[in-house]
Amino acid sequence: MSERTFVMLKPDALERGLIGEIVGRLERKGLRPTRFLWRVLSPELAARHYERLAGKSFFSELIDYVTRGPVLASIWEGREAVAVVRALVGATDPVKAAPGTIRGDLGLDCTENLIHASDSPESAEREIALFFEEE
Ligand code: UDP
Ligand code: MG
Repeated sequence: MSERTFVMLKPDALERGLIGEIVGRLERKGLRPTRFLWRVLSPELAARHYERLAGKSFFSELIDYVTRGPVLASIWEGREAVAVVRALVGATDPVKAAPGTIRGDLGLDCTENLIHASDSPESAEREIALFFEEE
């Protein structure tokens, strides 16, 4: 059964010219993009997106990072899209992410790890609403 997920290329991915590389990996897997949105996040939107992490030691660094330049938000559809994209993305810390994953192949920094992907269908719907349905 087809499912949808939310993906956001973070500012480092755009700064490093990796949009094509990362979007291409998702496309070649067979996932289909249905929306793209290029924007600079306000600190308020970034804090709502990451509200579950408020209170963590890295929270303010994370908000500064994701608001420092444009991001590319997107919606992707396909069979088990949430789990499939998480597998393609790899572990949060690129040092631990397996080779062959986006973070494992392209990243090195635990905060600047290129990409956000929803961790459950419920998170996906919440994040899609936050970025695409509240404008
Ligand atoms: N993050 C960080 N330090 C940590 C854990 C996470 O800077 O120790 C940042 C990193 O950019 C990560 C984001 O916070 O992608 C959200 O954390 P989460 O645990 O949701 O990881 P993800 O779902 O992105 O793998
Ligand atoms: Mg997460």
